[in-house]
Amino acid sequence: MVSHLSTGSAGGVSLSDLPKSNVFTSKLPADPAFETPEASHKAPRETLGPRMVRGALFTYVRPEPAEAPELLGVSSTAMKDLGLKAGEEKTAELQALVAGNSILWNEESGGIYPWAQCYGGWQFGSWAGQLGDGRAISLFESTNPDTNTRYELQLKGAGRTPYSRFADGKAVLRSSIREYVVSEALNALGVPTTRALSLTLLPKSKVLRERLEPGAIVARFAESWLRIGTFDLLRVRGERELIRQLSTYIAEEVFGGWEKLPAAVNIKEGQTSTEIDNPPRGIPQDTIQTHQDVDENRFTRLYREIVRRNAKTVAAWQAYGFMNGVLNTDNTSIYGLSLDYGPFAFMDNFDPSYTPNHDDHMLRYSYKNQPSIIWWNLVRLGESLGELLGAGNRVDEEGFVKDGVNEEMEAEVIKRAETIIERTGEEFKAVFLNEYKRLMGSRLGLKTGKESDFQELFSEMLDTLEALELDFNHFFRRLSGLSVSQLETEEQRKEAASVFYHVDGFGGIGETDDSARTRIAKWLDSWRTRVLEDWGAENDAERQAAMKAVNPNFVPRGWILDEIIERVERKGDREILDRVMQMSLNPFQDSWGLNTAEEERFCGDVPKYKRAMMCSCSS
Ligand code: AMP
Ligand code: MG
Repeated sequence: MVSHLSTGSAGGVSLSDLPKSNVFTSKLPADPAFETPEASHKAPRETLGPRMVRGALFTYVRPEPAEAPELLGVSSTAMKDLGLKAGEEKTAELQALVAGNSILWNEESGGIYPWAQCYGGWQFGSWAGQLGDGRAISLFESTNPDTNTRYELQLKGAGRTPYSRFADGKAVLRSSIREYVVSEALNALGVPTTRALSLTLLPKSKVLRERLEPGAIVARFAESWLRIGTFDLLRVRGERELIRQLSTYIAEEVFGGWEKLPAAVNIKEGQTSTEIDNPPRGIPQDTIQTHQDVDENRFTRLYREIVRRNAKTVAAWQAYGFMNGVLNTDNTSIYGLSLDYGPFAFMDNFDPSYTPNHDDHMLRYSYKNQPSIIWWNLVRLGESLGELLGAGNRVDEEGFVKDGVNEEMEAEVIKRAETIIERTGEEFKAVFLNEYKRLMGSRLGLKTGKESDFQELFSEMLDTLEALELDFNHFFRRLSGLSVSQLETEEQRKEAASVFYHVDGFGGIGETDDSARTRIAKWLDSWRTRVLEDWGAENDAERQAAMKAVNPNFVPRGWILDEIIERVERKGDREILDRVMQMSLNPFQDSWGLNTAEEERFCGDVPKYKRAMMCSCSS
């Protein structure tokens, strides 16, 4: 009888019982123009429009009322992760909340007032000035009573804020469907990402982009929505006290305390550290940088944590063939989350120069550039934190805290900051490579890492896929299904090679069926040898299962998202969204029992003229 009582049971709690907070707005400075919720609430909505906001990290602002909203979909995994009980999505309370029609504050008793964050950013390599949440409004933080994970829940497309610049504060259905699906798909693949709870259609809201389109709201959540761009803006404006305050907030409130951050590594004496406990596969330990001879203060440790997280995330993008498409600093998370979904894509045919961003003529954000671009962004962060990193053990001296770097300190501070950023760059490379090898190794069914794997298995495989214009994610899934006993002879391997072909064969200039089969067979031979080394012939079924558990059968590719958008928007289809969400939440299954023909089509060959699609930034 007590099982249904909402006391933080594994089954989740109701929306009203979910513990809520506003640590962000209580610890960080508000826009001085509307310093309190009351001041913002009393202000006519038009006065909360675009302007420059200084000395603040957010503005109190409420969502615009939504007329006749229709809840189109909810992620069941998101509900669970937030700590909400199943069925809660059917309540009027939850539906009103995710549509922007209810806030947890009123004039009589107060509560939690929504806010929009202030940040800036480097876009395509140029300083873009103040940006901020121009169409995202955070409602509150909630804590899952079982896992104790705290998330900030925010509505994207909920109306104008002081950060809307020239735009309308709205999001169109098309891009909202894309964000809703991909957030949950990436999470299911194990790629760190911001999440999506729900998708709400605003049928009365007509939004002008390339044409008039329906508006929508995604209720999204993340451990933190702070970006490198948040620091960029403070640095450009010289708001140095705020940089210290924000850093402290992140260490204490986002990462759970300074003591959780990585410490200096002493490899020679074998002291513990994340790396020493888990030696990176294939990386000699002495390539990991030690920071102990450079007065590593707590801000350096914070910087390293942010760098390490982003290194792992970009490694996961590379291993799963995911591209964000717009890796500006305002879209780079301090928590290392994949963030802000515009013209993103999963790779179809393997092509390192591919970018899904139609406007990215320089290929700045193409697949192969993602790791170096993320590092470029992290160097901007290093510069924002520069004086804190460079101050070493003098970081808390009264004079420095108050007035910053004086002439006497200057040379030393600059030198130390440069050294730290450079060494953290080495750490970025090591962590990136380690994670990339770990993920690629497990995608290829390996249990151990060998120095030679990188060249003989990873590079050779990627070169083959590129040369023959074969599909990246299908390759891994189809490989998972091959048994080593099918690959014993050259003849067998050549026979098996065509499982990787498209229905229309393969591509590549000058390649023949025989040259293609010979090349794939050669690779399969090296792969088979390594798999046998790691598993033995007797455990092949287990190896296949392990591979299927990391190689998705389904990824939401551009052409599939386009079809869903078309069906939801033009044909009034509602069921398709739920089916695709089920597939996205459980991407490793062979089938889902929803609609066999559709499942097979969505997991099968990408129609020839729908490969490597591109999107514009308008959303
Ligand atoms: P994005 O390219 O989506 O990362 O957005 C860059 C900046 O433009 C962010 O500050 C967004 O909040 C803002 N922005 C983009 N679209 C809109 C819109 N429709 N209304 C208001 N602000 C927007
Ligand atoms: Mg953005």
